[in-house]
Amino acid sequence: MSDVRSTDPPVVTPNGDAARGAAGESILTLEDVHVSYGNIRAVRGISMEVRRGEIVTLIGANGAGKTTTLRAISRLVPVAHGRLTFRGHDLTRFPAHEVVRLGICHVPEGRGVFANLTVRENLLLATYSRRGKGDVNKDLERVYSVFPRLAERRNQFAGTLSGGEQQMLAVGRALMTGGELMLLDEPSMGLAPILVEEIFRILVEINRQGTTLLLVEQNARMALQVAHRAYVLETGTIAVSGPAKDLLDDPRVREAYLGA
Ligand code: ATP
Repeated sequence: MSDVRSTDPPVVTPNGDAARGAAGESILTLEDVHVSYGNIRAVRGISMEVRRGEIVTLIGANGAGKTTTLRAISRLVPVAHGRLTFRGHDLTRFPAHEVVRLGICHVPEGRGVFANLTVRENLLLATYSRRGKGDVNKDLERVYSVFPRLAERRNQFAGTLSGGEQQMLAVGRALMTGGELMLLDEPSMGLAPILVEEIFRILVEINRQGTTLLLVEQNARMALQVAHRAYVLETGTIAVSGPAKDLLDDPRVREAYLGA
């Protein structure tokens, strides 16, 4: 695998099947959503949607409000104003643990794996929140097939894994919830370029297998290469949005986020 630098051509096969995403029905909508931390207005009236089968990316500078947006969807921070709807459900009526049961799984910034539990135990923990338990072993095997490294290390404590492997475990754990929509907060953070490329390839594969992704990323180039559509967040508001391939060529986006 090659090194990934901002000037390189696409290294991950873009999920170019944008028509499929565009044809899917809207499963998540945000309308005029506001979130504040005391006097800090982190999210200031954003509206966006995610359609079934899409990869949608949310990019922007540090402090733009990306993490806060994901946390609002997962009900981890209160929404001051606005509407959030997932498959027709008003999300503001649900506490965080029930949002998981509705089918939204969240891979948080920093991964949050349990260091003193094995890889397998970390994965099994995620199934406790599932409404229907289904065939847990089948799901474990699916995760192991997507992440062969996790299969090799299934009995190893998570704390002994590399950063990239811990990120894979965090994504694998989200898959184990059986959620239809996966929220990912900076999955490439702190990883070597070769691992960033591997993580992005896996995200495309997970999407191909049927999971819809809402991806927050600092690595705007990689995110725009794999996404169907994108939103650019600036100081808590949506500054630009559209098909991801169009944003790759948008002069405003290129100058501010792609170093070109
Ligand atoms: P980053 O890439 O640095 O994580 P971000 O786009 O995800 O940035 P947020 O983490 O959502 O941005 O932060 C948006 C704003 O809210 C920032 O001004 C940040 O300082 C502030 N903020 C975030 N979390 C808190 C908190 N728990 N208490 C107070 N202010 C917060």
